[in-house]
Amino acid sequence: MTIQKNISLASFNTFGLEATAKEFTTIHSVEEAQALIASGVFQKQRVLLLGGGSNILLTKNFDGLVARIAITGKKVIHKHDAHVVLKVGAGENWHELVMYCVENNWGGVENLSLIPGTMGAAPMQNIGAYGVEIKDVIEEVEAVEISTGNIKTFSNAECRFGYRESIFKQEAKDKFIITGVTLRLTTKDHHFNCSYGAVHDTMIALGHDVPSVRAVSDSVIHIRRSKLPDPAVIGNAGSFFKNPTVHADTFEALKKTYPTIPSYPAGDMIKVPAAWLIEQCGWKGKRFNNIGVHQLQALVLVNYGGGEGEKIWELAMNIQASVRDKFNITLHPEVNVI
Ligand SMILES: Cc1cc2nc3c(=O)[nH]c(=O)nc-3n(C[C@H](O)[C@H](O)[C@H](O)COP(=O)(O)OP(=O)(O)OC[C@H]3O[C@@H](n4cnc5c(N)ncnc54)[C@H](O)[C@@H]3O)c2cc1C
Repeated sequence: MTIQKNISLASFNTFGLEATAKEFTTIHSVEEAQALIASGVFQKQRVLLLGGGSNILLTKNFDGLVARIAITGKKVIHKHDAHVVLKVGAGENWHELVMYCVENNWGGVENLSLIPGTMGAAPMQNIGAYGVEIKDVIEEVEAVEISTGNIKTFSNAECRFGYRESIFKQEAKDKFIITGVTLRLTTKDHHFNCSYGAVHDTMIALGHDVPSVRAVSDSVIHIRRSKLPDPAVIGNAGSFFKNPTVHADTFEALKKTYPTIPSYPAGDMIKVPAAWLIEQCGWKGKRFNNIGVHQLQALVLVNYGGGEGEKIWELAMNIQASVRDKFNITLHPEVNVI
């Protein structure tokens, strides 16, 4: 394992923010993760575990060790009549894995096409899109415990998945290096979810008359390309805030003042799109020098080039304050602020 000094992180975060890591290393295996722990580095300095850097905001130089997780490998563990159980290394690129599943006609992750990042980070915030969350297909998560170096396997229930949440963002935060994830996918009799947004209509428009793993994936990719800024063109980390949930009576009161307020059921609560709240406060498309709020997606903060993470965080806090003032709703960041 090589430790490099003073490494630029600009190409390791999708905001494209310039920040320097005091030290930088790459982890290629479970054994390397255990060796890093055994070196005692976690007791000596801050360590940032990094996947694809698509869900972080670097607000300053990192005065510690950045350990990029690059554990690769895909292995079929079981193949049953209608299911395949696949173990995937934490460093595998998520979208490439989805494409591999599409090629094999394995169902379950097609709605999650084109989400940036790595396999290992996906359970952290239970990635979700177009009516599907990764929790729906996760069988187990393998991780190395930082305090002992022991391997622990978390069952789906033990991961305590919620909306953009898991145990890895709560009690287990900063305590584990995720090294692999086991997925259970369908090989036939797939259950397609085409009801969300324009997935069904786009599928038809693209010439797919009946749903298939590929048809749903194509449709999702088409929609995402038309709606979301490509980080290779404009730096961003996707949705900056989570969609807030409010009690039904709070929502009814809001609806009296704002009759057009959109909403979705979320168990006993009501989910309100954060993008709508931000737009109502006048932020959509606002630009402040090199940073701003995307013109088409009020939930996406952007770095037009040469922006500073600290300024993006300041903008995020101003947005949060204005939404709180107008609606009495607090937005919580989805992005990990470093
Ligand atoms: C254009 C765009 C669109 C997006 N769309 C969506 C979307 O539709 N749905 C969605 O849910 N998300 C979306 N995201 C957010 C992001 O892609 C996901 O959160 C993704 O899972 C992050 O993966 P990553 O490897 O880049 O994680 P990173 O940004 O590298 O890390 C995220 C967090 O996980 C930790 N971490 C990373 N790897 C490990 C590991 N192996 N072990 C322990 N901790 C680890 C890091 O320390 C950090 O706290 C989008 C982002 C972008 C840029």
